[in-house]
Amino acid sequence: MKRTIFDAEHEMFRESFRQFLDKEVVPYHLQWERDGIVPRELFYAAGKLGFLGMDVPTQYGGGGEPDFRYNYVIHEEVQAAGVNASGLGMSLHNDTGIAYLLHCANEEQRERWLPGVVTGDLITAIAMTEPGTGSDLGAVRATAIRDGEHYVLNGSKTFITNGINADIVIVVAKTDPSKRTGGLSLIVVERSQVGFTRGRRLEKIGMHAQDTAELFFENARVPAANLLGEEGAGFHYLTQNLPQERLAIATISVAAARAALELTLEYTKERTAFGQKVGSFQNSRFSLAEMHSEILIATTFVDKCVLAHNAGELSAEEAAVAKWWCSDLQNRVVDRCLQLHGGYGYMSEYPIARAFVDARVQRIYGGTNEIMKEIIGRSLGV
Ligand SMILES: Cc1cc2nc3c(=O)[nH]c(=O)nc-3n(C[C@H](O)[C@H](O)[C@H](O)COP(=O)(O)OP(=O)(O)OC[C@H]3O[C@@H](n4cnc5c(N)ncnc54)[C@H](O)[C@@H]3O)c2cc1C
Repeated sequence: MKRTIFDAEHEMFRESFRQFLDKEVVPYHLQWERDGIVPRELFYAAGKLGFLGMDVPTQYGGGGEPDFRYNYVIHEEVQAAGVNASGLGMSLHNDTGIAYLLHCANEEQRERWLPGVVTGDLITAIAMTEPGTGSDLGAVRATAIRDGEHYVLNGSKTFITNGINADIVIVVAKTDPSKRTGGLSLIVVERSQVGFTRGRRLEKIGMHAQDTAELFFENARVPAANLLGEEGAGFHYLTQNLPQERLAIATISVAAARAALELTLEYTKERTAFGQKVGSFQNSRFSLAEMHSEILIATTFVDKCVLAHNAGELSAEEAAVAKWWCSDLQNRVVDRCLQLHGGYGYMSEYPIARAFVDARVQRIYGGTNEIMKEIIGRSLGV
């Protein structure tokens, strides 16, 4: 079945992004996994070639294309490169950080930040999660109390993607601690902010090159001009922007499942046992056929979600469906693919082993899959 979602421009973009990965990412990725972070120069290189802020208006230097298919192409190619590009952190920047600036920043802020996020001079992060709360945003304890022309920010955040590399961090904090979600606001904290420090680069079971960190704010006097949107409307902005982040996770999941299946097809066509190819046992053939079918069905659904998102018609519930189902699929697929590799599947030097551990977090971040089912359940009136 021919996919019709991409046009010639997307395919050209794909080709140049693939070349970027081959030249600037894949040869160095193992070292970045050891370092636990990608060099920030990678963002400059990506920015120079037009791989950051494709949807940012051209007046700020961006691609001027509010078309999520470009983001989708990036996710497909990163996954097709296998585990050799999993640490990029570009998805968080392109799909999430920039989206908040585009949707919530006023003109002065757009002029201040958008040119830098496109060139890679400003790397973004979003800091919602705290040591004491993740799913329950109403329980956020970070506070940003207005004092004249500043907000005094106190609190700590954890598990923050791009936490070390970030130049601007969109912090979710309570401007009115007497309320739950109604007291939340979004405050942009810049690299040079006094009272802002970074903690440990956290060690994870997978995605080793991806920078994940703790952040601390101690009486940080952030200019009031760094408030994004309206005070107290933070939760509303989160619910508006999280569907795009969830759609991104869904597209990554399906692309990762496809990449794992391709690896496994290659392996099982070569490996022999009992005098025949491993792939030719009926159990293996059925397993491969089932995975191929599920990935095909998921691709069709996700393609439709991306087009609906472009048309402004993807609902929060549909994004939640895509996120939980596709990330579950990815996890099922990598597990079955690992099994078909036998003992080699458990060896870190085999890409499927790393794909297995990388996959696990997809069911956790961006809102856990249980929270996705809560959102869907509520939409059903139950
Ligand atoms: C690698 C990585 C990168 C991340 N990047 C970021 C980032 O850039 N920015 C950021 O802000 N956060 C980030 N996170 C945090 C992530 O979004 C949270 O871990 C996630 O939202 C879950 O929150 P929690 O860890 O506090 O788990 P908890 O909320 O404590 O949940 C624990 C368990 O309880 C379940 N649970 C909770 N509430 C309910 C409920 N109502 N019904 C049913 N089950 C429930 C959860 O599903 C989960 O299984 C990242 C996490 C990881 C691991």
